[in-house]
Amino acid sequence: MNYLVLGPTGPANLSRMCRESVDKISEKIMMRRAKGWGIVIAPILMSTLFPREKETGMRLEGGCFCGAVRYEVRGRIFNSTLCHCTDCRKASGAPAVAWFSARRADFRITQGQPARFASSEPVLRSFCPQCGTTLTFEDSRWPEELDIATGSLDDPEQAPPGDHTYVRSRLSWMKLHDGLPEYATTRSAGR
Ligand SMILES: [Zn+2]
Ligand SMILES: [Zn+2]
Repeated sequence: MNYLVLGPTGPANLSRMCRESVDKISEKIMMRRAKGWGIVIAPILMSTLFPREKETGMRLEGGCFCGAVRYEVRGRIFNSTLCHCTDCRKASGAPAVAWFSARRADFRITQGQPARFASSEPVLRSFCPQCGTTLTFEDSRWPEELDIATGSLDDPEQAPPGDHTYVRSRLSWMKLHDGLPEYATTRSAGR
């Protein structure tokens, strides 16, 4: 069952909510009900509200600096973030690295073959063996998904970060006043 959520949550939240699973939406509704927000829920067909492309995400393309490695992402993307952790910093040589997540089944290398190394026990990072561009981040604790370096997209504007993670390791001169949520470590660990 899909729901149209009206009232205090507002239509502005709909596109964000449609990217989440129906289960999550139901969970959210239950939470808001519990908080006494008094929202109105109308069961509808989500596909009538959102065309299929929006529901499944778009097709993104990217690759490394030299062009030897190319990839595509189909389907929805999620968890866009700017990570300030020391591993991302050292592995990329940049003060912070923007990532977005996709399901591994939605990610495909279309040209070349990235090289990989383990930056910590559960984490495999990939990069172009010729030019060194940081490409992906895979964590064996999350086998269904992977992170893709936003800066390697042909159009990084398609996946702007939604928050900052590992701000406890942020460099003192990385002063970004973008108003995005900040997490000391991971998003799931909270602020
Ligand atoms: Zn390359
Ligand atoms: Zn990181």
